[in-house]
Amino acid sequence: MNILEILTKAKNEGWALGAFNAGNLEITKAIVQAAQSQSSPLIIETSSGELEHFGLKNFLSLVENYRQEFDLTILTNLDHGPGLEECQTAIENGYNLVHFDGSKLPYEENVKVTKALVGQAHQKGVLIEAEIDQILGDSRPHSELPESIQASGSYTDPQKAADFVAQTGCDILAVFIGNLHGTYKESPLLDLERLRMVVQTVPCFLSLHGGSGLRKEDVQKAIEIGRIVKINVNTELRVAYRETLENVLRGSDEVAIHKIMPPVVAAVQKVVEGKMQLFGSQGKR
Ligand SMILES: [Zn+2]
Repeated sequence: MNILEILTKAKNEGWALGAFNAGNLEITKAIVQAAQSQSSPLIIETSSGELEHFGLKNFLSLVENYRQEFDLTILTNLDHGPGLEECQTAIENGYNLVHFDGSKLPYEENVKVTKALVGQAHQKGVLIEAEIDQILGDSRPHSELPESIQASGSYTDPQKAADFVAQTGCDILAVFIGNLHGTYKESPLLDLERLRMVVQTVPCFLSLHGGSGLRKEDVQKAIEIGRIVKINVNTELRVAYRETLENVLRGSDEVAIHKIMPPVVAAVQKVVEGKMQLFGSQGKR
C-alpha cells in the first residue's frame, strides 16, 4: 500500500500509524521488529539531527532492506524538516512523507513554502505534513509542564487551520492541542473539544506529535474523534534505550557490541509494541 492508501485506510477504520524516530541501526531494528511481531504498518522517521548522525542514504537503504525482508508497510518521514532545501532533498531521495515545520516563519511565508513543497512532493507521490502552531517542549524527560501551556492561546485555531490547508493543499496538519514534545511528571491533557472543532473545519489528515507520556485514554479519544492518522513517538524510545544501556553496562566489562545491544533493542521494541496496540494498528500490516 502506498502512503495515501494506508492513511485513508487508517482514517476509515479509526486507527493511527505510529511514527517512530530512529537515530541509529538499533532503534530502526527495534521499530521494525515490533512491527513484525504486531503485524503493523509503520512510519519510521528522522529529525534533521538524527538524520545527520545516521546519514540519509544509510537510513533509506536500511529501511529498504527491511522492506525486502519483511512483508510490511514501512513508510519514511522527515520529521520537523526545518527548511525548503532539506525537505526538497528528502523528496528527491525517496522519503514517503515530508513534514515541513514552518511554524516559526511568518504565516504568509509558511503558506508560500508549504504550497511550493506540496506541488513538488505530489509529482513524486510524496505527501506533505505542515505545521502552523509551534508544538512546545522537546523530546526528553521534563519535570514541570512549561508555564505557557497553561494558557491555550498557542493551540491550533480551527479557522486559521482551515485557511492554511485551503491555501497550501497540505496532506497532513500537525495539530497542537496540548500534545507537548517530551515526557512530564504530570501528563499534559489534550484539548479534545478543540480537536473536534478542527476536525469539523479542516478537511485533511491530522497528526498528533508528542505521543510519549500522554494519558492512554486521551490518545484513544483523539483517535476516535476521527482524523488523527499519525502519532509521533520519540522520547519514550530514547529513554528506554538509554536506561537499558546504562543497566547493561553497569557492573559489566563486556566490550562486544553485538552482546551489549540485544537487551537495548528488546526494550525499545517493547515500547513500540505498546504504542502500536494503543494506536490500534496491530494486524493492519
Ligand atoms: Zn514533533
